[in-house]
Amino acid sequence: MSEEINKPNNFIRNLIDADLDKGKNEGRVHTRFPPEPNGYLHIGHAKSICLNFGLARDYKGQCNLRFDDTNPQKEDEEFVDAIKEDVQWLGFDWGEQPFFASDYFDRLYDFAVQLIKQGDAYVCDLNAEETREYRGTLTEPGKNSPHRDRTVEENLVLFDGMRAGQFPDGAKLLRAKINMASPNINLRDPAIYRIRQGVIHHQTGDKWCIYPMYDYTHCLSDAIEGVTHSVCTLEFEDHRPLYNWFLETLKTEHHPQQIEFSRLNLQYAITSKRKLTQLVEQGAVDGWDDPRMSTISGMRRRGYPAASIREFCERIGVTKADNSIEMSTLESCIRDNLNENSPRAMAVLDPLKIVITNYPEGQTEDLTAPNHPQQEAMGTRNIPFGREIYIDRADFKEEANNKFKRLVKDKEVRLRNAYVIRCDDVIKNADGEIIELRCSYDDATLGAAPEGRKVKGVIHWVSAEHGVKAEVRLYDRLFNHPQPDSDKTVDDFMVHLNPDSLATRTECVLEPSLLTAEAGKVYQFEREGYFCADAKLSSESKLVFNRTITLRDTWAKIEQQS
Ligand code: ATP
Ligand code: MG
Repeated sequence: MSEEINKPNNFIRNLIDADLDKGKNEGRVHTRFPPEPNGYLHIGHAKSICLNFGLARDYKGQCNLRFDDTNPQKEDEEFVDAIKEDVQWLGFDWGEQPFFASDYFDRLYDFAVQLIKQGDAYVCDLNAEETREYRGTLTEPGKNSPHRDRTVEENLVLFDGMRAGQFPDGAKLLRAKINMASPNINLRDPAIYRIRQGVIHHQTGDKWCIYPMYDYTHCLSDAIEGVTHSVCTLEFEDHRPLYNWFLETLKTEHHPQQIEFSRLNLQYAITSKRKLTQLVEQGAVDGWDDPRMSTISGMRRRGYPAASIREFCERIGVTKADNSIEMSTLESCIRDNLNENSPRAMAVLDPLKIVITNYPEGQTEDLTAPNHPQQEAMGTRNIPFGREIYIDRADFKEEANNKFKRLVKDKEVRLRNAYVIRCDDVIKNADGEIIELRCSYDDATLGAAPEGRKVKGVIHWVSAEHGVKAEVRLYDRLFNHPQPDSDKTVDDFMVHLNPDSLATRTECVLEPSLLTAEAGKVYQFEREGYFCADAKLSSESKLVFNRTITLRDTWAKIEQQS
């Protein structure tokens, strides 16, 4: 199959194809992913990353990672590092070095001086409230600022004074002189520079006390880098005339084309850095990389494969239509990948002890189990078997009808990868709780059962002597509302937090091969789901596993019922 056939088709690619046909941009395709380092990246950013880096890959072009770092009060080096790690983990390469809008602060300042000299920008003394009043509304035009007609000389002196730190925060703004009566509010003399005294910028330190606004910085950074297609989300559609105004007015060498697409909204998840910040700051989760978070680092820690996230971004496509993607779409990408690629293992999450009375005391044997039922290439491993084992409490009933295909008193069941056992006795404590089972095994049943012998159920188990103790964290959706942050009936999306999003099982027993499991590597615990060792909470003295995902979509049923 040729590479061409596999390329996703969408309106952005059609647009680029048309540009290439016309010979626009000397045949170059150059995109960028421009995060603001004020939080960790989330699944919505993954869509933008896959789109921008994917275009560069498929058109043999370039995609810059550029930090849009114009708001130092909210930004931090921690976020810069986390963003780099996440982009890399998703499988993309930004070339030699990442870019920073702050690298261009000198040039942006020069561009601002040029605007002033051309009579296209002025220093305005209105305070924030007055500026708002003068701006007008969606239905009423704005009014010209009383400072709009300052001379070029006066503006140059004042702007220089702003830069030199002569004025306090809010005392002055540099504004573009466009049109206070424009039906597009973005064109009503938008701010270009504001004063921020005493702020230390993570890249430029205390060099500046004025900072350029996002709209001004973004288009010029694109132009400076020679970006050809500046792909962003739909909320910037109304900003496009301003994007073009700056570039046309400054006659930049390159004039990138802004193209908007609809942002990803994922049901039961949050895709807003501001709200994710709230979850972290209020302690609702264990940091940005909490495995329940819709952040890239959270999904990584939970065990979601990068390839599944890329596959998800491909499956949902790129359009201009509003959308709300079902969580099950993401989850099925995760399951498809893990089912194929994760080795199998046995783990008992709620242990019930069994003593196999006819198995010799002190004896153990190494049984062999395939690591994957279909993929022989994944090999086999040894599993120790002995007189005492654990099974899951839910796999035993004293009495049950034929539908219960597990262990029942006086009946048989097969132990996965091992023998058939029969339950002979049930031991209870003073409160009547079952604390142990006495079983017998049939040594002729290892592997396949003898002719004519029917044993329906197969359950998993772990040797009591060899099993390793672990804590297992069972995660569920962080929210119990499909659109937690657009429910107008509540003040705060936090009320929709799912109180059962984490259940911790502290007494689990895992087969010994899992003792050396690499953090983040996902195993299918047979009959239980997919799990991986937690990079943050596991230590030499304590093993902690995360449930990546259940075997089946347990929410599908609930949603059908409601
Ligand atoms: P947030 O609202 O979460 O703070 P943002 O848009 O302010 O997101 P940026 O750091 O500015 O965050 O985003 C970097 C890039 O990622 C932008 O080009 C933005 O359009 C894109 N992006 C952000 N959220 C989504 C989303 N939900 N779907 C698709 N792209 C997104
Ligand atoms: Mg933004």
